Amino acid sequence: MNIKTNLESIKSSLSEHVTLVAVSKTKPISDLMEAYNAGQRIFGENKIQEMVDKYGQMPKDIEWHMIGHVQRNKVKYMAEFVSLIHGVDSFKLLKEINKQAKKHNRVINCLLQIKIAEEDSKFGMSAEDASTLLQSDEFSELQHTNVVGVMGMATFTNNMGQIEKEFKFLKSTFQKLKTLNSKLATISMGMSGDYQLAIECGSTMIRVGSSIFGSRNYS
Ligand SMILES: *Cc1c(COP(=O)(O)O)cnc(C)c1O
Repeated sequence: MNIKTNLESIKSSLSEHVTLVAVSKTKPISDLMEAYNAGQRIFGENKIQEMVDKYGQMPKDIEWHMIGHVQRNKVKYMAEFVSLIHGVDSFKLLKEINKQAKKHNRVINCLLQIKIAEEDSKFGMSAEDASTLLQSDEFSELQHTNVVGVMGMATFTNNMGQIEKEFKFLKSTFQKLKTLNSKLATISMGMSGDYQLAIECGSTMIRVGSSIFGSRNYS
């Protein structure tokens, strides 16, 4: 497993409108530095504390993406530096992000996580809730958050037909929401096992971990 080679082979297969988030959760700084030295500047983590620790140890020209479930009481730890929060699944959370961003005089980019999987375990809001949120007066008052797109996680299955159906649903949800808010531009979908399919279905941002850094013992 060579991180640089893995990155290069993935990147060479991507068209320029697809952004690669290198998912480095559970991996040591030395692995992240290998990716950094190979040119990677966008890293994704799913635990706030781990991301904060790595932010402290890595070069400062990195964009840090929070891709995991976010607890409201932890937003404050990342508000100073996080560049995109993928998993926004409620207005309450968005409001907290707005509040913490304001303290740092920042505007934090966010994606609305849409529930696309059939499993109960996956977080996310319904397409209807997302549409209600984007049209609400309360939403229009938030000055320190910028909702720039949607994110989804497909069902954990080898059934590519099922995954494709879910990706297509996210794409069509995105198109509907975009008619309500023209700022939406990003569709974050696709991981190591399914990012090619995700791109065929319209993904603009893929979150790839194990195909770059090797398998994890835990996640
Ligand atoms: C871990 C994780 C990924 C990356 O998974 P791989 O299968 O290792 O590519 C992508 N998205 C989220 C939300 C994750 O938690």
